[in-house]
Amino acid sequence: MNGTNYSIAIDGPSGAGKSTLSRLAADIFGFIYVDTGALYRTIGLAAHMAGIDSKDEAGVTALLPELDIQLRYDDNGVQRMYLNGMDVSDKIRTQIISIYASDVSAMPPVREFLLDMQRNMAKTMNVIMDGRDIGTVVLPDADLKIFLTATPEDRAMRRFLELQGRGDTSSYEEVLRDIQYRDKNDSSRETAPLKPAPDAVIMDTTGNTLHESLDLICSVIREKLNL
Ligand code: C5P
Repeated sequence: MNGTNYSIAIDGPSGAGKSTLSRLAADIFGFIYVDTGALYRTIGLAAHMAGIDSKDEAGVTALLPELDIQLRYDDNGVQRMYLNGMDVSDKIRTQIISIYASDVSAMPPVREFLLDMQRNMAKTMNVIMDGRDIGTVVLPDADLKIFLTATPEDRAMRRFLELQGRGDTSSYEEVLRDIQYRDKNDSSRETAPLKPAPDAVIMDTTGNTLHESLDLICSVIREKLNL
């Protein structure tokens, strides 16, 4: 245990089921779920709205001091993102903002900007935090680290069905290309690349039903945290 709170880090590539599984596990154990990808998406959205190219590090860095980014929870315990007072929780979920998020997240000043916000949440609450570098950089002392993965095709299909459910008309091929782009970006960047922490439990969810993966995660949490 880290001080008086438990922290669980769940990292892995896009579409491995991190957010759904983390949210459900957090509900079961009464932890707060923190989706850190939403923070990078909010900065990506801000850059997009300001007309800054997603690869323009100087432009994005200059924008940071103007950003008030807040992560709040609604009455149902659902995480909402606010950008300069505006609820942008839905706006950050489009394909273009996925690409922006991946590009801006490779910029060291962006990662630095978000680091304390993430760490402070874990200081005061029991958290399940999902992202790419939670076990390696944000919470290196987490009580449990899980690295969730699955084949790109499996992840693309899940994400495609999720986007379809939201009325997004992107094709499966587009979604697969986006996943492959983000995998490459996230794994090859110099700062906080996507990789399992040495002490992470690796879980491959390829072909699993949601229930099978959830059962697996819950049993690891129970065992490791003695809950
Ligand atoms: O998890 P999600 O797909 O919403 O994250 C959006 C993007 O933010 C990812 O493609 C990744 O590049 C970046 N990210 C990150 N570190 C995190 C969480 C997300 O670099 N901890």
